[in-house]
Amino acid sequence: MESILVLTHADESGATLSKASFEAITSGKELTERLGAQLKIGIVAAEPRPLSKGLPGPVLAVEGEPFAQPRFATDAAACEALCRAAHASIVLAPHSSRFARVMAAVAHRVGGQIDTHVTAIVGGDGVKASRWFYRQRIEAVLARTSRPWFLLLDAGTHAPNAAGSGEVSLEFVPVEAPATRTSVTGLRAPQQSQQTIRPDAKLLFVAGAGWTKKQPDGQVHVDEAGKLILDFLAASGASLGSSKSLVDQGGEGNSVLPFLTHLNQVGQTGSTPRHPKGLATCCHGEEPHVVGWRFIGERRAVSLDPNCGWSRGKADVVYVADAFKVMAKVNEMLGSLG
Ligand SMILES: Cc1cc2nc3c(=O)[nH]c(=O)nc-3n(C[C@H](O)[C@H](O)[C@H](O)COP(=O)(O)OP(=O)(O)OC[C@H]3O[C@@H](n4cnc5c(N)ncnc54)[C@H](O)[C@@H]3O)c2cc1C
Repeated sequence: MESILVLTHADESGATLSKASFEAITSGKELTERLGAQLKIGIVAAEPRPLSKGLPGPVLAVEGEPFAQPRFATDAAACEALCRAAHASIVLAPHSSRFARVMAAVAHRVGGQIDTHVTAIVGGDGVKASRWFYRQRIEAVLARTSRPWFLLLDAGTHAPNAAGSGEVSLEFVPVEAPATRTSVTGLRAPQQSQQTIRPDAKLLFVAGAGWTKKQPDGQVHVDEAGKLILDFLAASGASLGSSKSLVDQGGEGNSVLPFLTHLNQVGQTGSTPRHPKGLATCCHGEEPHVVGWRFIGERRAVSLDPNCGWSRGKADVVYVADAFKVMAKVNEMLGSLG
C-alpha cells in the first residue's frame, strides 16, 4: 500500500501556500483517492498553522523564521525532516524554483529516487509518472519500483486545490536550523508593470520579428511597435513571449525593443509556457517557434502573410491583417472598457 506525502511551501507573502503547492495537493488528493491510500501534507513556512486550515489530510509542518525564505540548507533540512516523519512511499512536490533546487538532495538523503517535470500521474491501480522529453515532442510514462519516489510536478498541470477554513490535525516536526552562509536581507523585484513574463496570465501575447521590419510605407516603426505592445500588456495583463528572431535582434548591444530578453523567447530553444490562450503577432509560426506552444489551449495569430505557418494548421484562428492596425484598435477597445 502506497502512502502519499505532498510537500508544500508558503508563497512570497508567507500568508498562503503557493499556487503550485495547491496544484500538488490536488494531484495528491486524486492519487490517494484512486489508490485508496493515505495522504499527508507537509508545510515549510515561518508560520504554518494558518496555512494548514482546510487542507485535506493530516498536516506535518516545519515552522520558524529560518524557514521563511528559500535557501538550500534550511529547505533541504525541513523537507528531509518532513519525509522522515511521514514515512511516505510517494512524495509529491511542486516544481517551483524553491523546491526544484533542493528535492534531488532530499531524495538522496532519504535513499529515494526522483523524477522531475512530471505533468500527470497515471497508472490504474499503480503509480506511473508522465513527462515530456525533447522539447515537449515526446511524452514518456515512467514507473519505478524503488521507494520513496519523489515526483516534482510542473506548474499549470493541475487545478489548484481550493483553500478551506476548517482546522486540521497539525503536527510540528522539530528541525534544528542548520548553519547557513546565506542570509536574506530583502527582496528586489521589478515593478509588476515592468515584469512582462507572467506565468499565471490567461493570455500569452507573442511578438514576432515583423514588428521591427519595414512596413508597407517602406519605414520601420519600432517605437510605435513598443508602445502598442506595452499598452496591450498593461491593459490586458497578458504575459509577453517572443520569437527567437526578435529577441536575437537585441544582442550586440542593439536593444530593439528594450523590454524583451531571451527569457521571453518561446520555442525549441526557449520556453514552453502554459496559458489558456495565445495570440501571436507579426510572427511567421515556424515549427521551432510553435513547438513552444504545446501547452497553449486556444491559438490565434495576426500575420500579413496568408501562407504563414499559423495558417498551415498551427493556429485555430488566423487574422490576415496588419498587426499595427489590429493592436491599435484592440488597445482602443480595451481603453474604452476602463
Ligand atoms: C535550431 C533552431 C532553434 C530555434 N529555436 C527557436 C525558438 O526557440 N523560438 C523561435 O521563435 N524560433 C526559433 N528558431 C527560429 C525559427 O525557425 C524562426 O526563424 C523564427 O521563429 C522566426 O521568427 P519570426 O516569425 O518572428 O520572424 P519572421 O520569420 O521574420 O516572420 C515575421 C512575420 O511577421 C509578419 N509581419 C510583418 N509585418 C507585419 C504586420 N504589420 N502585421 C502582421 N504581420 C506582419 C511577416 O509576414 C512574417 O510572417 C530556431 C531555429 C533553429 C534552426
